Amino acid sequence: MSPQRKLIILTAPSGSGKTSITRFLTAKYPALSFSISATTRAPRGTEKDGVEYYFISVEEFQHRISEHAFIEWEMVYEGKYYGTLNAELERIWGAGKIPVLDIDVKGAIHVQQQLPGDCLSIFVQPPSVDELKRRLESRGTETAESLATRVSKASYEMSFCHHFNKIIVNDNLERACAETEQAISEFLGW
Ligand code: 5GP
Repeated sequence: MSPQRKLIILTAPSGSGKTSITRFLTAKYPALSFSISATTRAPRGTEKDGVEYYFISVEEFQHRISEHAFIEWEMVYEGKYYGTLNAELERIWGAGKIPVLDIDVKGAIHVQQQLPGDCLSIFVQPPSVDELKRRLESRGTETAESLATRVSKASYEMSFCHHFNKIIVNDNLERACAETEQAISEFLGW
């Protein structure tokens, strides 16, 4: 596979700061491009279709599964599908850029299995489950129920950290961004 078809995965429990790191990277480096996932969850706040996600119906998502349109997909939360479309990766590679995937732990493991050697996987670890709970609460986007689901899933996901190429502890966002940049520069030979 040519160097142009490399990809970068940022994975972590929800609320560990991987989305902030992803935004920092894609804003700073024009060669990196955020891979827009498809999801069946509803848009939150100012989210727009085709920006944060491709928001699609359950029927359409299932149809896409049957067409093998996804490199990976997961029901990340009860009833809510999330997946990375092969066409999205092709779109980014076609533009001569490197996709940055912000996906859950299981999805990240699946992508790695399919593209060993071509992907750099980074696990962003929150300093603790308590801190993660505090961050999710302060984000103000979760109901008590969805908060509890995310926190319990986070503890489980943290046990998978050793499946990835690099673990970055996000106790300080600036330092975590710098460490991520360093890992990416080494991987891409920048
Ligand atoms: P949120 O609903 O907060 O946007 O995302 C919930 C979780 O789903 C996050 O951990 C996010 O990284 C993950 N996620 C987003 N897109 C995908 C995807 O395409 N595949 C998988 N497996 N997980 C995803």
